[in-house]
Amino acid sequence: MKRSIIFFICCVLVFTVSSIDINASAKSKEKSEGKKIIVLATGGTIAGVGDAGKTAGYKPGTLTAEELLSAVPELADIADIEAIQVCNVNSDDITAEIWITLANIINEKASDPEIKGFVITHGTDTLEETAYFLNLTVKTDKPVVITGSMRPSTSISADGPMNLYEAVSIAASDEAVGQGVLVVFSDRIYSARSVTKTSTYHVTAIASGETGAIGIVRDGEVLLYESPVKKHTTQTVFDVSNLEKLPTVSILYFSVDADPRLVKYAAKYSDGLVIAGAGAGEFSKKWIKAIKKLKIPVIISSRIDDGVITKDNLLCGNTIAADNLSPQKAAILLRLALTVDADKEQIEEMFKEY
Ligand code: ASP
Repeated sequence: MKRSIIFFICCVLVFTVSSIDINASAKSKEKSEGKKIIVLATGGTIAGVGDAGKTAGYKPGTLTAEELLSAVPELADIADIEAIQVCNVNSDDITAEIWITLANIINEKASDPEIKGFVITHGTDTLEETAYFLNLTVKTDKPVVITGSMRPSTSISADGPMNLYEAVSIAASDEAVGQGVLVVFSDRIYSARSVTKTSTYHVTAIASGETGAIGIVRDGEVLLYESPVKKHTTQTVFDVSNLEKLPTVSILYFSVDADPRLVKYAAKYSDGLVIAGAGAGEFSKKWIKAIKKLKIPVIISSRIDDGVITKDNLLCGNTIAADNLSPQKAAILLRLALTVDADKEQIEEMFKEY
């Protein structure tokens, strides 16, 4: 009698445990059903490998896209994932050719109704530049989310797996549709236009200065509080589908006693210039003289993080105000403006609109 009671209890236990399992996997299947996310891996610290536990002295762009994904098995609960290794580099080696490839892959795959969104894994050094370029050139409302990490995969408490989980959650969400290219880092969601790297070491290095984050993500739940107002993605005039490279734009950083011959030299090898001026886009009388002589488009930005430049700030009539775009983002917009042969007035308009 006793034996048959024990046998009965065991059977009930086995049945309960296995039905919990079946329910859990059925639920996760239900959650991920119909959601396909493309992960485009480009390298960076998120794919970095170094001495066990250490945060510095590692080799970025080492793990493959598949290895990155296998570190986060929970991704299967959110979506079916297709991984594409676009390149595997330190993000300082990202090029305009890689940007164009990324934009073209996204634009081509976005027409597939099965695909819900895109995630790009990227080094943090130039993440903001890739984000802004794509924000101006992808032609879809589907979510495009970029992330990376500050600590390599082999460090203690690496931040990559959580950032990747959050990026896929956002890419699979309805909230992110039509918001332009987004960046997620340490639980915060940023718009591509304002995001920038603010620290050389901290896990919250990717942030958004005065404008701040537009939302947060927690345990895969996406909470958006703001929406970007500047034109992006489907609202821009830029089409990179037939381009192989971009025009050359150089950035000149002004400081006390900076040699004005640099202005002439840079202009000789560039299709356009961006000046990172002091304060509200200012520079010495010697630079004013050199800049006034230039015949190529010149954008005036500031070397200050929260720098807004308006037309009234300009010291030279032949220049264009960058609004609050950083020098590196102003350079991207100017490069794209030159692909559509925009004249001075049209470029001015673009710096207001985008
Ligand atoms: N140097 C690295 C990169 O940009 C830094 C990082 O990813 O955090 O690829």
